Amino acid sequence: MSASIQPKSADPELTLISVTKSFGGHDVIRGIDLTIEKGELVVFVGPSGCGKSTLLRMIAGLENVTSGEVTIAGKTVTDEEPYDRGIAMVFQSYALYPHMTVAENMGFALRLQRIPKEERRKAVEKAARILQIEPLLDRKPAQLSGGQRQRVAIGRAIVREPRVFLFDEPLSNLDAELRVQTRIEIARLHQSLGATMIYVTHDQTEAMTLADRIVVLRAGKVEQVGRPTDLYDDPDNTFVAGFIGSPR
Ligand code: ADP
Ligand code: MG
Repeated sequence: MSASIQPKSADPELTLISVTKSFGGHDVIRGIDLTIEKGELVVFVGPSGCGKSTLLRMIAGLENVTSGEVTIAGKTVTDEEPYDRGIAMVFQSYALYPHMTVAENMGFALRLQRIPKEERRKAVEKAARILQIEPLLDRKPAQLSGGQRQRVAIGRAIVREPRVFLFDEPLSNLDAELRVQTRIEIARLHQSLGATMIYVTHDQTEAMTLADRIVVLRAGKVEQVGRPTDLYDDPDNTFVAGFIGSPR
């Protein structure tokens, strides 16, 4: 395996330093080092069970690291609570509160942070405008289509103006056409917000079209890191070639 291609930067947004995770003595993440630049869109790919979600959850602070360190904007956050990390996560399952309206769902994190009501309303409306879901603000999640729910879930992340967005297979519950639309939407958001994003998928097309860099994971380790074209043209091994090179 060749050395992973990582930009050397004095000002990274996020770093993982020798991060490991075991569940009940079973090593799930086995020593990951990674540097992500401000504004980068990095895609994690790898087979089911290789540790993608666990890694995102550790970055978000929803799961403790067993050993190692996570830094965000130069500050160690390994022991910080999720809400203090400046990170927002969008899940595959949307995880919207069914009893709240769209506007309440989107403003909920700000309410927890005791942001005043008027300020919350403005932030929610601004995010709704960006995602073109203003007409949906008074609806309940049950009155939305899958694609609309996923927009609301993304809107809920935008409202918090995080430094880093984490997406965990956000399109896997959508049909093919909506997957393409939403993928384009996420690319547009990345452009317009200039935010750092980590995007988990097992879909080769999503990885190739969205990523500034792709991180290929296998059994809790980084197999190769590089730009999509580099991995495509010059995979380190047959595992990477199989994942990136072949149509699926
Ligand atoms: P991926 O998202 O790549 O499919 P996960 O991060 O969900 O993989 O899981 C990686 C491994 O960790 C799997 O073997 C899974 O069974 C295990 N795992 C994940 N969460 C837990 C948990 N809370 N307790 C025990 N094992 C877990
Ligand atoms: Mg997962």
